[in-house]
Formats: sequence, C-alpha cells, structure tokens
Amino acid sequence: MGLDGRVALVTGGSRGIGAATALRLARDGADVAITYVSAPDRAAAVAAQIEALGRRALAIEADSADGDAVVAAVERTVAELGRIDVLVNNAGIWLDGPLEDVTREQVDRMVAIHVTGAFLASQAAVRQMRDGGRIISIGSNLGPRAGAPGITLYAMTKAAIGGLTKGLAWDLGNRGITANAIDPGPIDTDMNPAAGPYADAQRAGIPTGRFGSGGDVAAMVAHLAGDAGRYINGASLVIDGGVNA
Ligand code: NDP
Repeated sequence: MGLDGRVALVTGGSRGIGAATALRLARDGADVAITYVSAPDRAAAVAAQIEALGRRALAIEADSADGDAVVAAVERTVAELGRIDVLVNNAGIWLDGPLEDVTREQVDRMVAIHVTGAFLASQAAVRQMRDGGRIISIGSNLGPRAGAPGITLYAMTKAAIGGLTKGLAWDLGNRGITANAIDPGPIDTDMNPAAGPYADAQRAGIPTGRFGSGGDVAAMVAHLAGDAGRYINGASLVIDGGVNA
C-alpha cells in the first residue's frame, strides 16, 4: 500500500474529519498518531480501529491552544512510532455571531488553535521529516471567501492556513517536503451536522445539494500524502461541492 512504513500525525483525530483522515491513512498503510482535547473515549476508539487495520496507533491528549503540548505531541509521535512523514493540521473549533460580541479570549483561543498551533506543529514536524514528507492543513472554504456576516474571526484564522502553506512550500520544497491546504465546505460532523438547524440554509448554497463527508476530505489528504501528490505544493484545494464557485 502507498503509505506502508510511513507515520502520520493527525491533530484533532478523535472525531469528524480528523478521525476519517486517520482511518484513511491507516487503510493506506500508515501508522497513525492522533491528538484530542476533550474526548478520550472517542480517541481510544479511533486508535482501536487503526490497530484493527494492522497499524500502530497512538492517542495523545494535547490541546492545540497550548504550543508546548503541540510540540510535545510531535516529539512523542517520533519517540513512539519512530518517525513522522505526514502531519495533518486539522484540530479546530467553530465560533460565529455578531462581531461586536467576540471576546478577546475567543480571539486568542481561536488564533492559538488554528494558527499558532498549526505553525508550531509544522515547525516541530519538519525538524524530524525526511525527503517525501507532507504537511497538510485543514483550512476552510470560508478562508478564501467569507461569504456571510458573523464569521470574521473564523475566516481570518482559516485564511492564515493559506499563508502558512505557501510559506512552508518555499521553505521545504528543496527538501522534497510538500505543504498543502484543504479548504472544505460543509462537511457532516459534530461541528456542522447535516441534520442541524443551519444545514438547510447551507444546502441551498451547495451546487451539489448535499453536505460532504469526512471521507471526502480524507480522500484528498490521502492523495496529497501519497506519491501521486508529490508535485502538488503550496496549493489550497477547495472541496466544497461547488459553494465557492
Ligand atoms: P469536529 O468538531 O467534528 O471535531 C473536531 C476535532 O478537533 C475533534 O477531534 C476535537 O477533539 C479536536 N479539537 C478541537 N479543539 C481542539 C484543541 N484545542 N486541541 C486539540 N484537538 C482539538 O470538527 P470537524 O471534523 O468538522 O472539523 C475539523 C477541521 O475541519 C476543523 O479545523 C474545522 O475548522 C475544519 N472545517 C470543518 C468544516 C465542516 O463543515 N465540518 C468545514 C470547513 C473546515 P475532541 O474530540 O477531543 O474534542
């Protein structure tokens, strides 16, 4: 299989897109570490599923808002699984509402998780990565196009993923390491349930008329992580059923 012998770390791998990605990378042959912050049972269940596929798994409690914890998660992955070839910066939170109501604490936490955490994880990972390494970061289609009021903070932090990715592409290309972002649209997860109160309004703006699945995003992660993705670098790939079109 394409990722045999490789090791991946997926931040926020206990649920949703991260869990689907961790399982997909394991199915493609990788040993996989995941981080989580609030759901140890869900993380343990994902780790058990990875092991049932015949791969090694590691579930690490690490709040992505805590830079030291993020760096420690990368180092523990290398210490226990032997190397790191693929980093998926996925951990994320949602917040919307009137601009005037956003607190300083909410700004600091979202920037810490989406931006600083992704930067520090990438920096720590590339210290260990060899030729063929991959940094894949989950942004949002609301980064390149906010498209609605009430999401300035979220859109700002997700747009930063595009800048992180372009910078990394230049920093790491000469080492044979690629960096790319995936910008999903509505994906059916706990964060954005397809049966939730805001789902119909979103569906009205999706040309394909339906939410995507975690597996839809995971398939792109797998493509980027594998050898077939080796010439894709510095890209932000929108997977949103056509919303931003
Ligand atoms: P979910 O809420 O379903 O899952 C979030 C995951 O991130 C969980 O594993 C959670 O861990 C983890 N997580 C949250 N905060 C932290 C933290 N501080 N430190 C470590 N882990 C954390 O979200 P999705 O799967 O929907 O979202 C995944 C990513 O995709 C996010 O970055 C999100 O912004 C992005 N995205 C999602 C879209 C959607 O429509 N669903 C659309 C576009 C982008 P735990 O289980 O322990 O709480």
